[in-house]
Amino acid sequence: MLKRTAGYKFIADIFLPNRCALCGRVISWEGLTCPACGEKMPLLKNKTIEVSGTDGGTAAFSYEGKITDLIYRMKDSGESDNFAELCAGIICERLALTGLDLRTDIVTAVPMSVRKRVRRGYNQAKLLAEFVADILGKKTDYTLLERNDDSTEQHHLSQKEREIHARKVYKAASGHNDISGKNILIVDDVITTGATVRTCAEKLREIGAAEVYCCGAAASVLKDRNK
Ligand SMILES: [Zn+2]
Repeated sequence: MLKRTAGYKFIADIFLPNRCALCGRVISWEGLTCPACGEKMPLLKNKTIEVSGTDGGTAAFSYEGKITDLIYRMKDSGESDNFAELCAGIICERLALTGLDLRTDIVTAVPMSVRKRVRRGYNQAKLLAEFVADILGKKTDYTLLERNDDSTEQHHLSQKEREIHARKVYKAASGHNDISGKNILIVDDVITTGATVRTCAEKLREIGAAEVYCCGAAASVLKDRNK
């Protein structure tokens, strides 16, 4: 993972002008957003989210309007470092409100299907996980979970179908590192029903995780329908 230090950003800006993470306007080399977007960010109102089967979590933005477009566009464009860094900063501030920043031992990401990763060139959740781990000063571990190549788009599925689908595709990876007694923070790009992170949390506990927290770049306001 390249370290986006001030020096790196200063040099990078010479070759590719730095752009606002939210509107794409050209901004000064050290910023993440333009002043207008910085003042009016569509943050998720609830600073914590509740997903049953996890021990707490948070998300930066509300998954609606502009952010929805942004996440989808970003997934395809690859110009997402500023957005990921912006999200990670907000996520870490919010984790600190409930002490989950300190409780986390290891940061991991929801795995992406190989087919999607080849198409997009990278895993958005993993990119975000790198920034989050960097800010928290924690280790990342991507040996823990894997998914099969079922590429069903989840947003067409009902809540119940999503739970079944998630159980089918995510599993503990063979040959994973030992995480006995560790607290794991799992990172996804978008958390809507919570089915994915809930299933991943279950799999992480099966291989020894003590507590599992979740976070995402964006989330729907979760009123847990699965309790
Ligand atoms: Zn802007």
